[in-house]
Amino acid sequence: MTLPPPPTVTDALRARVDAFLAGPHDLFIDGAWRPAGAGGRFPTHDPATGQRLAEVADGQAGDVGRAVQAARRAFDAGPWPRLPPAARARLLERLADAIEAHADELALIDTLDNGMPFASARMFNIGGAVGSLRYNAGWATRLAGQTLTPSVPGEWHAYTLREPVGVAGLIVAWNMPLAMTVGKLSAALAAGCTVVLKPAELTPLSAIRLCQLIEETGFPPGVVNLVTGTGAEAGAALVADRGVDKISFTGSTGVGKAIVRASADDLKRVTLELGGKSPVFVFADADVERAIDAVARGIFGNAGQVCVAGSRLFAHRAVFDRLVEGVAARARALRLGAGVEPGTEIGPLISEAQRARVLGYIDSGRAQGCEVVAGGGAVDGPGHFVQPTVLAGARPDMTVVREEIFGPVLSAMAFDDEDDLESLAARGNDSPYGLSASVWTRDISTAHRLARRLQAGTVRINTPVGMDFALPFGGYKQSGWGRENGQAGVEAYTEVKSVFVGL
Ligand code: NAD
Repeated sequence: MTLPPPPTVTDALRARVDAFLAGPHDLFIDGAWRPAGAGGRFPTHDPATGQRLAEVADGQAGDVGRAVQAARRAFDAGPWPRLPPAARARLLERLADAIEAHADELALIDTLDNGMPFASARMFNIGGAVGSLRYNAGWATRLAGQTLTPSVPGEWHAYTLREPVGVAGLIVAWNMPLAMTVGKLSAALAAGCTVVLKPAELTPLSAIRLCQLIEETGFPPGVVNLVTGTGAEAGAALVADRGVDKISFTGSTGVGKAIVRASADDLKRVTLELGGKSPVFVFADADVERAIDAVARGIFGNAGQVCVAGSRLFAHRAVFDRLVEGVAARARALRLGAGVEPGTEIGPLISEAQRARVLGYIDSGRAQGCEVVAGGGAVDGPGHFVQPTVLAGARPDMTVVREEIFGPVLSAMAFDDEDDLESLAARGNDSPYGLSASVWTRDISTAHRLARRLQAGTVRINTPVGMDFALPFGGYKQSGWGRENGQAGVEAYTEVKSVFVGL
């Protein structure tokens, strides 16, 4: 089979995106575009060059209030939750078609705003958005209650109804902008909720283009509202607003905890997709070449800015050197560059602050005794580039092993024959996080027994693939609350009502 050539950025595509970048980039509230009430704007930059891309409306608490009121009206009195589910599904499918028709444009917008390679933006980010819309469109007609048989004396008809929870506030991180935004949006809309969307201030652009497509697709006014702005102002106002019934948040564990505190006053429903420090176990009998490829992709993909990045490697001593040298060779060979350049495999980090943070972690690893096997520094020139880095000789108490780095930095540790599955699981579970874990072995029993012992929302066995729209995704421990994707992901936007009928 011949694979199609990787997509490239043509002049015509660049011209279309330049026209979009010229603006305006306003708020989308109640089906209309308007500047922020206070008139403020903030810039967004290309992390590969540091150059300003566009100016975006700086939504304040008043704007959030107006957006929530619009979503409230659309939910309480508008057609959306009352539409036949098949009609909701059709609109979600139409939006998927519109995203597909503008896939290159949306991919380039996120490549410029986030830094990711164009081919990855096309495949994972836009592909993820379309896939989640089509998957969740199917749930609109399949969400259902149950009939049940009570044991209390009497004759009964008893059943449950699944109802949309109401207005959902969707707060998104910057590392996979469109896929993450549409993942939340499609589940909320399939369930019959109306939404206020707050994209990350570092990557607001694809959400604006998405809302233009939502407008063209014909969603009723107020069903989807967009407020761009900072987390401290617009995000916090959304969480505090009493008109919001549910917050779905993807971002850092620290902000997730602040959201839980802030939503305590009215006990909003909250779903949290937070940080991770995912372990990867490679046993002596593993297919080491495949494991090398997967470990490298798992930590260097998207420049390590991935919540499920396999950042702690535990390898059996018999394969440790081969594995670490293999991953280090990949690290040295990866082509760093701007996402728009053909052949780029790794883009920049999102910001100068993020680069400084990641370099600080690498320095701490060095200072605490790690050996830098590959990378270990910044890349000269414009843009926020960091070399893909492999640290060997890491120990469980080191900062690079304990804290989420959110950059292309792997910390490698060896284990021996005397480490049984209980002690290996304990090493993997020795973290406040519990998002994902990987196991590489040809021993089916070892694989499944370790999977049971790991505290992680997803366990991958002999594969780099760890996400599918059908499979619930989320974290144990401080990696989050609740699940996205799958049936659980749509049901997270519903309430269950029990109805008792005395016959
Ligand atoms: P962040 O928490 O700083 O910001 C995420 C979003 O929250 C942004 O839209 C921001 O504006 C908003 N925000 C910030 N402060 C807020 C507040 N007080 N109230 C309401 N909203 C607020 O996170 P980040 O730096 O953008 O993203 C990186 C983090 O996200 C990492 O920890 C990563 O692991 C995590 N992440 C998790 C997943 C997952 O699915 N588990 C996926 C991607 C990223």
